[in-house]
Amino acid sequence: MKFMITCKQASQIISQSLDNPLSWSDRMKLKFHLFICDACTRFNRQLHLISNALKSMRSDTENDSTIQLTSEAKIRILNNIQAKNH
Ligand SMILES: [Zn+2]
Repeated sequence: MKFMITCKQASQIISQSLDNPLSWSDRMKLKFHLFICDACTRFNRQLHLISNALKSMRSDTENDSTIQLTSEAKIRILNNIQAKNH
């Protein structure tokens, strides 16, 4: 059976799927494996939960750095104005 993969292969595909979109054949292999394997189904669910949590944490940090950049830019503009006035 072409779609038969081991749990090791399945977990590799699952972790790849967090970073990159899977190819059609990988998606089918994984889908088939998750259909027959409870352990990997749980692993898949947990990994996506963790990954989503990390992503939302990362987007929080991005928001913070945007605020920092904005205030930095303001200071730079103010300094430029002050430098011109001198
Ligand atoms: Zn498995």
